[in-house]
Amino acid sequence: MTSALAPSGIDPATSPARALACRACSARYPLIAQHACYECFGPLEVDHDPTALATVTREQIEAGPRNIWRYAPLLPVGQDPATRVTLDPGFTPLVAAPRLAAEVGLTAPLWVKDDSANPTHSFKDRVVSVALTAARSLGFTRFACASTGNLANSVAAHAARAGAPSVVFIPSDLEQGKVVTTAVYGGDLVAIDGSYDDVNRLCGELVETDEFEDTAFVNVNVRPYYAEGSKTLGYEVAEQLGWRIPAQVVIPMASGELLTKVDKAFAELVEIGLVEAPAGGWRVFGAQSAGCSPIAAALHADSDTINPVKPTGIAKSLNIGDPAAGPYALESVRRTGGWMAAADDDEIRAGIRLLARTAGVFAETAGGVTVAVLRKLVESGRLDPTAETVIFNTGEGLKTLDAVADQAGPSHRIKASLRAARDAGLMG
Ligand SMILES: *Cc1c(COP(=O)(O)O)cnc(C)c1O
Ligand SMILES: [Zn+2]
Repeated sequence: MTSALAPSGIDPATSPARALACRACSARYPLIAQHACYECFGPLEVDHDPTALATVTREQIEAGPRNIWRYAPLLPVGQDPATRVTLDPGFTPLVAAPRLAAEVGLTAPLWVKDDSANPTHSFKDRVVSVALTAARSLGFTRFACASTGNLANSVAAHAARAGAPSVVFIPSDLEQGKVVTTAVYGGDLVAIDGSYDDVNRLCGELVETDEFEDTAFVNVNVRPYYAEGSKTLGYEVAEQLGWRIPAQVVIPMASGELLTKVDKAFAELVEIGLVEAPAGGWRVFGAQSAGCSPIAAALHADSDTINPVKPTGIAKSLNIGDPAAGPYALESVRRTGGWMAAADDDEIRAGIRLLARTAGVFAETAGGVTVAVLRKLVESGRLDPTAETVIFNTGEGLKTLDAVADQAGPSHRIKASLRAARDAGLMG
């Protein structure tokens, strides 16, 4: 890497990223569009130069924009804003949730990191901004993904903003709130008769064809860059707490990637000296829906093998039956002393309503999963009720209205008169 611009197109003079490394066997590759190891088929991850990371200061970050790009020196991209493909997501609210804490039995502070506030209303804007910025510097001109819904929204919107063509693949049974909010941006939207895992397999085949040579699939061929975008959630939580890492985090899992990257973000911040590890470390907890809980099932069986499942249930954004980062999510949770649990559809609906009623945050089904699992983890004694906890709401309730539509209508219906209001008991 002697030239100013490495052959990959990701400039090592301005990016701390140095290589792709296999998570399974540690084989190393240049920073190109590749996601699986040629030696062992393990997943590849971006490896950063620790000395480049160590030059980053709190002051430098705090002087940056109020979005994910304040953390650009910690991401596998060049530093020139003009090269970004982005909706400038991030710096979403960290909401204090004392009434939710009381309701589930926590005595320590509880916070909701509300990523529904992102431009397309889910945490996926973070990963897409990083993936597509890397993809453009790698020379790709068309943007694609295999999606359970939120990723579709985000890729279509990013492509529209950038004026680039997009082709987005989804299972045909997605919520209307995810389909409409993707189709409206233009671009090709391909509904597949099959599950997400079928969609993902097809994308894995398409990406190998000559016809798709110009196409970056954010969660296939440029997945290592995509995954790094999730770290910004961990960085933000620490910065918003005044450069502290919470003792416990509860994170929804689909592929399991987000969970592993929040853990990685905390470890990086400690390693480069931006925060001190909390006494006793941090503990990472994973949340799945009972209709698709292969990672939690492996933990509960004390197994290293993730047995793929055929997903069911209303938390469609989390319905990945064969989770790519599952083994690494298990590793994070075991190493940090956390746990995992799963919530059924009724518990998910109750979780959505509980969060809305106690914190003023309307979450999609994935957020309902997380709140329901928080309650279970407290009840089972796995989560310490006296330790500070952050839960992650990763998506917006308006996209999955059907989940609670039957349970959330007008509480009264009256004539437009004072008398009717009094009769309905509205006047004390
Ligand atoms: C994609 C997604 C997640 C988690 O995704 P991972 O594949 O585990 O990184 C969580 N919540 C929502 C709403 C999502 O769309
Ligand atoms: Zn390998």
